[in-house]
Amino acid sequence: MNRIGFGNDIHRLVPGRPLILGGVAIDSDLGADGHSDADALTHAITDAIFGALALGDIGSHFPNSDERWRDAESFVFLRFAVGEAKRRGFAVANVDSTISLEAPKLRPYIEQMRECLAVALEVTHDRVSVKAKTGEAVDAVGERRAVKAEAVVLLEKK
Ligand code: MG
Repeated sequence: MNRIGFGNDIHRLVPGRPLILGGVAIDSDLGADGHSDADALTHAITDAIFGALALGDIGSHFPNSDERWRDAESFVFLRFAVGEAKRRGFAVANVDSTISLEAPKLRPYIEQMRECLAVALEVTHDRVSVKAKTGEAVDAVGERRAVKAEAVVLLEKK
């Protein structure tokens, strides 16, 4: 039986932090605040995999009170979730995701994100969709106070 999962995430944008999305460093004057590298897209996809497996959320596996995960590369979390899926006989069928960020424009980075995520998810990049939206100058995204990401993952039984 196939399993579907949903994940979302939000991080505050602040000066003096890197902005990492889907494992790719984005050239930006503001970065994402957080305990780990604050990669909102990777967190959303990781949560979607945990969700598909009904294994709780990223915070229950990697609490932000744990110093081991300070500035951690979020692909560690993603790889762990993929491993949990594999252990239960599942493989990723496809991922669809949307990043919400007012600036900079993410189009130049999307292909690299898809490639990085595909490697971590052990799929070809045509199974990984990354879309980007702005906040249309409203809400926390539109006011450049936050970056958001949402993701849906389908797992197929091998
Ligand atoms: Mg997060």
